[in-house]
Amino acid sequence: MLSDCPGCNVQIRFPHDASIIRCPECGETFSIKGLHANPRGWRIALFGTLLTFNYYFTFPFIYSDILAFVFLSLVGTSVTLGGLMMSVNDKRRVGNGFYLLEAALAVVVAGHAYVIMSMGSIS
Ligand SMILES: [Zn+2]
Repeated sequence: MLSDCPGCNVQIRFPHDASIIRCPECGETFSIKGLHANPRGWRIALFGTLLTFNYYFTFPFIYSDILAFVFLSLVGTSVTLGGLMMSVNDKRRVGNGFYLLEAALAVVVAGHAYVIMSMGSIS
């Protein structure tokens, strides 16, 4: 795995099971676990997902206004995709190549947006 040293930004290669790294360049020690725990991208993505599927909980109130929920869904889709891209970028920076969950959620919301848009073109 690869990570940037927070002290001098030199790229360091380290074993998979390491949890504390000492930078050979500047001697800075830092925790890999701390670097991995950066959920801001996922927080944005989950908020976007909530918006995307907003009609599951707003349906009883705005069922008459289909444009409103189509609009919210499309806004939610772009927020979700933006958050997922941020999460992938953060993971790439700490050398974590596991993007399966991000890819899965991106497929779900993109497929959903496609259904919503084709519904809109029918009516
Ligand atoms: Zn360093």
